[in-house]
Amino acid sequence: MSRDHWATALDQMANAHRPLVALDFDGTLAPFQVNPSLSRIPPAGVAALRRLVAVPELALAVVTGRSLTDLMTVADLPVGTRLAGDHGAQFGVIDDAGPILEPVHLTPDQSSLLTAVMAALNELVGDGAWVEPKTTRAVLHTRPMASAEQASAKRELARQIGAELGANVLDGKEMVELAVVKATKAQALAKLRADHRAGIVLFAGDDVTDETVLTTLTRDDVGIKVGPGHSGATVRLADPAEMVQFLTDLADRLDARP
Ligand SMILES: [Mg+2]
Repeated sequence: MSRDHWATALDQMANAHRPLVALDFDGTLAPFQVNPSLSRIPPAGVAALRRLVAVPELALAVVTGRSLTDLMTVADLPVGTRLAGDHGAQFGVIDDAGPILEPVHLTPDQSSLLTAVMAALNELVGDGAWVEPKTTRAVLHTRPMASAEQASAKRELARQIGAELGANVLDGKEMVELAVVKATKAQALAKLRADHRAGIVLFAGDDVTDETVLTTLTRDDVGIKVGPGHSGATVRLADPAEMVQFLTDLADRLDARP
């Protein structure tokens, strides 16, 4: 990206009150792994997040499609980090004693819909495609499939299943999520913004679902798109390594404030 946009974004964050730094996890903080359980934030990123969370009046949040229980198995996040998981269906915070995750309650209708969605998606398992059960959704993953054509066909079938059953269909990279609650990352960010009474929001993400968040930002906020693809974000970073460098520069800049 251009150094001008990079510097402007740092200026915006340094000049605002009560900044909120909200980051997606996979593909944004942590490079993609074929096996999602192996995803990790690079050590320099872990260090940058620790410095950011220590900045007075700054709130740090991770906003992810993963369930928070799952996120806790892969993400090394500092005490004080706020959490929004399952695309905003679940909230939590990392406390001194460990993560505190708010329970998710499904209505009986949502529970039976989730059972039906899981059963239907399990019919598509094979040739590398697999189904991940989550608290409020089921996810068909096609990343390991050898044939891009077959993977695309399976994702289309999953979308049809979701539409027929009345689930909320969310497209991701090499995955289709069928959710039984209507939470979104944009709603989660709005709640985090209000809870912190944030004077500015920085949001960074890499995926289609993050794009819906980026379009809700005001021109005073900082929107970052990580990786290639169309985006409404003002700042573009190449990959999680560049994201980590940006966060390190941000920590330097905020630490240097008088
Ligand atoms: Mg992502």
